[in-house]
Amino acid sequence: MSKFIFVTGGVISGLGKGVAAASIGNLLKSRGFSVFVLKLDPYLNVDPGTMSPYEHGEVYVTQDGGETDLDLGHYERFINENFSRDSNYTSGKIFWNILEKERLGEYKGKTVQYIPHVTDEIILIIKNIEKKYNSDFIIVEIGGTVGDIESNPFIYAIAQMSGEKNGLNTFFIHVTYVPFLETSGDFKTKPTQDSVNKLRGMGIKPNMILLRSNDKVENAVLTKVAKATFLSEKSVISAPDLANVYEMPLYLEKKGAANIILNYFGINDVKPNLRKWTMFANKVNKEKKDTLLIKMLGKYTSFSDAYKSINEALKISGIDLGYDIKIEYIDSNLLNEENISTNLDDADGVIILPGFGVRGFEGKVLGAIYTREKDIPTFGICLGMQAMSVAQARLKGFKKATSKEFASGDKDEVYVLDYIKGKNEKDKMGGTLRLGESPSVFKKDSHIAKYYKSTEVYERHRHRYEIQHNFIELLEDENFSFSGYHPELKLVESCEDKSKSFYIGVQYHPEFTARPLSPHKLFNAFVEKAAERKNGKK
Ligand code: GLN
Repeated sequence: MSKFIFVTGGVISGLGKGVAAASIGNLLKSRGFSVFVLKLDPYLNVDPGTMSPYEHGEVYVTQDGGETDLDLGHYERFINENFSRDSNYTSGKIFWNILEKERLGEYKGKTVQYIPHVTDEIILIIKNIEKKYNSDFIIVEIGGTVGDIESNPFIYAIAQMSGEKNGLNTFFIHVTYVPFLETSGDFKTKPTQDSVNKLRGMGIKPNMILLRSNDKVENAVLTKVAKATFLSEKSVISAPDLANVYEMPLYLEKKGAANIILNYFGINDVKPNLRKWTMFANKVNKEKKDTLLIKMLGKYTSFSDAYKSINEALKISGIDLGYDIKIEYIDSNLLNEENISTNLDDADGVIILPGFGVRGFEGKVLGAIYTREKDIPTFGICLGMQAMSVAQARLKGFKKATSKEFASGDKDEVYVLDYIKGKNEKDKMGGTLRLGESPSVFKKDSHIAKYYKSTEVYERHRHRYEIQHNFIELLEDENFSFSGYHPELKLVESCEDKSKSFYIGVQYHPEFTARPLSPHKLFNAFVEKAAERKNGKK
């Protein structure tokens, strides 16, 4: 039987509940317990796959091809575990299940209602996960903020679960915020008190409060919150912004968070094995060799969560190799022949970002031609790799080369990329891309194989278009090659120019497998090449 830890958010959104849930998972796993994490999202989309990254941040892809919330990225990075599509349910998916049951007559003539039918469906999902994964702990993060209309069914469902086994099987963590009021010079606890009251009104008595704040709060604030919420003082944990999120597990360990949870469940605490994590976190605070400027060429430039896992993969490699990484976004939609040099020349490395839709694609192609010519280390990811291939076609004289995705109706256009076999126009709906993990086999003498130290890797995909085979021979030359393929389906997985310091494109998303405990080899190689450029020793 699993123990349940529920994580809710209060006062404002964006408090880092995902990092908190993931850090607790880290502490339990490092004690040898098995942990499953589930994110319940209140919005009505069936999954985030169809949502704009501007609305919701990146779509995180699980190994089994689930298009999920970016918090799954925190879970996998912090807990060093591959989760699956089972780790993310939305209201949309839950209602979908309910409506299907209703149409099949499974409610036997009953009026289908929020309570009990929606709440029961939510509980069923959690219980099915308990049965299927049989893990010691299931951490359930509820998206949104307590008090949102959309999240009410989730709150009522988990409140119902607290009624089972006299409440001894469920632990509630409420993550809230104490704002600092400049005029009076103190932290304000009233919003937290209100939020806890709201929770209590819905039947949940939190067992722990994580008090987020920009700065350290004095003990008096914690005491006040503890008194007002009827919690012991040690169960109100101050969680100010840390210099680096990867310090959060160690910070919470010092505060005794995991110990409090285990005591509550009547489980004997054991010493956690945090050796590797501590080694990584220590590197965070070590003086860095240098700061590297990485420019990211894409279109969602004003919302860095749109490329969350790429940012993290870079940060992780930077920490691992001893560099500070400074990321700057360049809007590929605004890039042109005139401004490209001022935009890209000072970069130590350039990442050509993934994406969908024509806006900004031409800027990516322009960037791919320019950085190659200037030998600036360049890493193309998914659409970025496609842009590198289109760039090569243009250099080979196919002036109107592009991807079918951007077909304009001009009959002189040639398509270096077209729908993956079996996919077509109708696939423009949710969940129909090529998704999830599959193998890539690299040519033995390729740079990419050298950096991976392997000719076969498994990485995660999310795309609909593929390089057309009739172009392979036309585009390859003594420097440029398509260096990796799916071993059976023969889909092109990578391209490179081996005469350059680092000019590699991948059709998949390596960022989803970069973790603090295993930094990604390709990102590491890219960062090293960027450092070489900075040191002028290419
Ligand atoms: N739009 C491109 C495709 O569907 C690339 C997708 C991506 O960058 N994730 O093939």
